[in-house]
This record gives sequence, structure tokens and C-alpha cells, in this order.
Amino acid sequence: MKAAVLRAPKVLQLSDIATPEAAPGELVLRVRAAMVCGTDLRILTGRKTKGVRFPSVIGHEFAGEVVQVGDGVTQFKTGDRVCMDPVIPCRACAYCKTGHENVCLHRQAMGYEFDGAFAEYIRIPAIALTAGNVFMMPAQMSFESAALAEPLACCINGQRNAGVQVGDTVVVLGAGPIGLMHAALARLSGARQVIVSEPNAARRQAAVDRGVEHMCDPSTESVMEFVKARTDGLGADVVILAIGVPQLANESLNLVRKGGHVNLFAGFSAGETSNIDVNLIHYNEIVVTGASALRRRDYELALNMLSAGQIDANSLITHRYEVADSLAAFDEAGSGRALKVAIHNV
Ligand SMILES: [Zn+2]
Ligand SMILES: [Zn+2]
Repeated sequence: MKAAVLRAPKVLQLSDIATPEAAPGELVLRVRAAMVCGTDLRILTGRKTKGVRFPSVIGHEFAGEVVQVGDGVTQFKTGDRVCMDPVIPCRACAYCKTGHENVCLHRQAMGYEFDGAFAEYIRIPAIALTAGNVFMMPAQMSFESAALAEPLACCINGQRNAGVQVGDTVVVLGAGPIGLMHAALARLSGARQVIVSEPNAARRQAAVDRGVEHMCDPSTESVMEFVKARTDGLGADVVILAIGVPQLANESLNLVRKGGHVNLFAGFSAGETSNIDVNLIHYNEIVVTGASALRRRDYELALNMLSAGQIDANSLITHRYEVADSLAAFDEAGSGRALKVAIHNV
């Protein structure tokens, strides 16, 4: 089969590799849609190395069709349309036991420990089936929509930590696909106003086209003044950092009101640090949280919200490629012009 094989940092090659076979308890899917994630770009450029194997196939946002069913699998059959929460928890460690399976001590994930979705076929390991990580797609749902359940689920996990309340002013820094999902989720949570800051003009326009009302350009205006002007000078209730720029951590602390919440949602490049004025947290009693991956219930919720049309994720897909053109897909995704880039098997 054709696959985009990551051979070393910055070395992605379109290769012919062995088509996977389903061992007992496993499935093989024909990947029908896989999305390029910001994390994939950080892996490709060597800015994320934790858990990454060489050579390997990356890609963790996907949906497909069951083409092979291993012995002993009873809950799925050939032809089923399925999608998957790619983070497989051990269900036995201290974190899993307390409901924090997204930070499981022994978690394994598609695109990391197991080969991922930028290929024609993908093997789903038995532990993923027993853990309940594989979901039947709702009947009318497209493979593309289902593949977006993973990033949306990660945002749902971040929103829980961010604690958006009815009536809040929420600031999202970064209008990439993740920032726009956060903006949409904040609105659903009852935010009074959502302000998005983004220096890239094309992305600002894309955000406005997708319903963002308060758009700020940090390259020409002060985000702080923009936020204060809309919050009686107090600052936002919640700030979500949806772009992995370490210097923006301190900016986020300055944008939030006393007692407000800052969620550092985006991952930063390995080894990067940031200077922050810790007194902002101290005197202003700011609650700072992080966000790591997703839980199975976040995934199921994301799938349901997408299928109910509560979040229009399809409008986030701006570019589509076939597996044979995966390398071009990655270039486009890294260009800053695209929102979500899909790779298809037609
Ligand atoms: Zn992702
Ligand atoms: Zn665990």
C-alpha cells in the first residue's frame, strides 16, 4: 500500500509498504479520511519527538471502513464505517482510575506507538477494541466529519479545564482550526462574547467567514486594549492559548481579569520555555490550566456534536489531497494558508 513514511525528522517519503493484516482481536481499516494536525507538523519538523518512532506512519485523526476483521472480533464487521479515539489508555494506572485517562502513565496512541493514518490502510490493535476506542460512525456522517472528532474532542477536554461559564467573555489566541473550534465551543457554553486574536490576515478572514464577531489583529492593535474596551476595563473571564507560542503565555495572563482562567491549550515545541510575571497569577488569583489529548467520553461527545450539527467542522476543511499527494498536503498544512487539510482515499 501507499503510505507517507516518516524516516527521520524532516524526512517524509511516499513509499510502498506492506499492507497490514488483522491478527486476532484486531481490525484493518481502509482509511477514507485523515486530517493533518498541528502536532503532525511539529513531529515532521522535529519540534516534537516524544513517543515518535522512525520509520513510522503518523496521523491520528481518521475515519475509515473495516476491510478485515481478526479472529474473535464480534462488535465490528467488514464494511462498517468507523472512527477512533487514537489515545488508548491502560485503564489500570493511578490516572486512569481517577478518570484522567488522557494523561495515562502507559497510554499508547495511533500515529505514535502504532502506525497511523497517512496510508491507504491502518491496523487497529486489539487493545483499542477492548478499551472501546473504536466507534461506529453515525449513519449520515461523512468520513471527513468523523475524522474531525479527535481535534474537537481535544478542544472539549481543554474547555473543561478552561471552565467557560454562561455570560463569560472568552479570548482565543490563534485562529487556526483549533482556535476556531474553541471559539465555537465557548459560544455553545454560553459565552457572552468571544474575541479571537490572529496575526495572519487570511486566517482572520476565515474566522470572520465562520462567524467570529470580534476579531483582533495583534500585529496592528493592542489585544489588551481591544479586550479591555469590551470588558469595562476588567479583562476576559477566560483566555485560551490556541497557538504554541511561549511568549503568549504572559500575554494571556495580562488579558484575563482577576480570578479569571487561562488555559494553555496548544503544545509548545520541546525544550521551549517562557518568562512569565508570576505575580500576575499570585495577586490576580488567576487559574492556569493545561490540556493534554482527550478522553474516550470527550471523543464520543465530539462525535455526537458533529453528527447533530452543533459544530460545523466541515467548513474548517480548506484543502483535500489523495494519499499519493501526501507530501503536498503537508506543505499546504504548514504554509499558514490552510485551516484543515484532509487526505483522502477515493
Ligand atoms: Zn490532532
Ligand atoms: Zn492508565
